[in-house]
Amino acid sequence: TISKTKLPFQAEVAQLLHLVTHSLYSNKEIFLRELISNASDACDKLRFEAIDQPALYEDQPNLEVRVSFDPAAKTITIADNGIGLSQQEAIDNLGTIAKSGTREFMSKLSGDQKADAQLIGQFGVGFYSGFIVADRITVESRRAGLPAAEGVRWVSAGAGDFEVDTIDRPQRGTSVTLHLRDDANEYLNAWKLKSVIGKYSDHISLPILMEKEEWKEGEDSKGGSMVKTGEWETVNQANALWSRAKKDITEEQYVEFYKNISHDYDAPLAWSHNRVEGNTEYTQLLYIPAKAPMDLWNRDKHAGVKLYVKRVFIMDDAESLLPSYLRFVKGVIDSADLPLNVSRELLQESRDVKAIREGSTKRVLGMLEDLAKKQKTGSESGEGKIDVGSGESVPSPEPTEGVTDVVDKNAQPTPAAEAAAEFGDESGKYAKFYAEFGAVLKEGLGEDFVNRDRIAKLLRFASTTSDTVSVSLADYKSRMKEGQDAIYYITADSLAAAKNSPQLEIFRKKGIEVLLMTDRVDEWALNYLTEFDGTQLQSVAKGAVDLGKLQDEAEKKAAEEAAESFRPVLERLKEALKDKAEDVRVTTRLVDSPACLVVQDGGMSTQLARMLKQAGQ
Ligand code: ADP
Ligand code: MG
Repeated sequence: TISKTKLPFQAEVAQLLHLVTHSLYSNKEIFLRELISNASDACDKLRFEAIDQPALYEDQPNLEVRVSFDPAAKTITIADNGIGLSQQEAIDNLGTIAKSGTREFMSKLSGDQKADAQLIGQFGVGFYSGFIVADRITVESRRAGLPAAEGVRWVSAGAGDFEVDTIDRPQRGTSVTLHLRDDANEYLNAWKLKSVIGKYSDHISLPILMEKEEWKEGEDSKGGSMVKTGEWETVNQANALWSRAKKDITEEQYVEFYKNISHDYDAPLAWSHNRVEGNTEYTQLLYIPAKAPMDLWNRDKHAGVKLYVKRVFIMDDAESLLPSYLRFVKGVIDSADLPLNVSRELLQESRDVKAIREGSTKRVLGMLEDLAKKQKTGSESGEGKIDVGSGESVPSPEPTEGVTDVVDKNAQPTPAAEAAAEFGDESGKYAKFYAEFGAVLKEGLGEDFVNRDRIAKLLRFASTTSDTVSVSLADYKSRMKEGQDAIYYITADSLAAAKNSPQLEIFRKKGIEVLLMTDRVDEWALNYLTEFDGTQLQSVAKGAVDLGKLQDEAEKKAAEEAAESFRPVLERLKEALKDKAEDVRVTTRLVDSPACLVVQDGGMSTQLARMLKQAGQ
């Protein structure tokens, strides 16, 4: 054990605290959300560790958070009976920044105090949010399983350092006491605290308790006051949001829940909430974010889906629950069938998990199809729809199992104007989604053969007739020329490079649309998509492009004659380029340019070769 020691904060923490304490807040109240969410995490952790070690519950199996305040001492205390902190954990976890969300927050700081203050309100900075309202924080804790004598007290005024000491603490878990600044006195009020808890923490599955108060008349008609009764009551709904019926959940609550689990500060584009029954029973609440996180391209980072088993939190980022190409999806899956002590290894072999993965993949593709449909017609918003911002209208795609919508289909329609104001126009969402995640979705062509056709339908490209990435393969097909028997595309580093390629000349001349592909994954992904709806996909940069029936007889004849008369020139060119070119051919594909490079049929494309070279291969 340690005796009273003063320790410095990690430099980044000190920097963050400076910001927290020197900015003005429009959104002070988030401190309570952050501290309650930590208490809830701590209880989740205890529940999880106790699966193997039931003794950790000691004599307190009912997990809860208690929020109390003391107007005389000007303190608010948030106490939980979760996993608690050992002395070393208090030093490590409350003295450094480990959380990626907080790091991201710090990377976004502009130095402009007002803008940064706003950012902090949206982000939340975890435990350190306490210093928004407090000029001193005392944390007392004992880790579950450790003796009472190994408790810890952590105290800091939020400047450069903190103090830790050993204390005797019979009760398990953590209590965080905020010594309020004068400008935060408004929180020394039960009504105020309850309203903030209702706003941010209603969906927390843990009961949040506050001590009941009652009005007591003063003596000699001196006016009365509220006094505490010693009785505690639950002030939140205390059930997991996803386990409630859809009709009992407001859009605001869905959005708030999303922000809470994703650490995202923007509202999601769409979500889908369903209870699936049948051989495998589970509830899914899946969100499509509006913006890509910074680590989207980190292939080690998997879907942000949390796995619960019968409301018990099991693990974050459970990669077996969704394929990697849907790693942008956030949400919760709560299984009724998996064992509580399921490990990551076990998950990969479980048949239930396979069913969940298939069902959830279909759900997400369904949500995307729904957004894509609305994007196309574009005019649907504003018509008193009930599903703005939500995935409620998602058609259940080929239900292999009974999908029971938790929604009451007769629910009151949300006034469209109101919803549109909050969640934006539905008709632009797919384009937004695609700009952020389209490239990831394409990985699915190579990864998910079962759903390849559905994925292919969701793809959008720029083309020689559209500068925006909005052309679907079906659109392209509907515009194909008579006699055209392939979908033509070109890959390049940029739209400008693609558009100016000499390889497009003949297509321009003949008025044939060519898809312009500029994502790095296109080349790889297109290997897996050789045809769409019965039509071949053909790179215009590969081999001798056979325009087939699009070429008239006269052109063919001219080409043959040219090949004949240029034979001596070709021979000399071939000789000169012996080590550099496989073949030299007369072509009809060029109109203005004298020559162009193409890749042998079946050879590696120039674009792919360049990519591999960049990757050092
Ligand atoms: P995050 O919750 O995202 O990890 P925070 O800044 O909110 O980041 O908290 C930092 C760490 O402090 C937590 O990860 C946890 O280890 C520890 N912690 C905070 N509050 C508690 C608590 N009530 N009980 C146990 N540990 C806690
Ligand atoms: Mg936290």
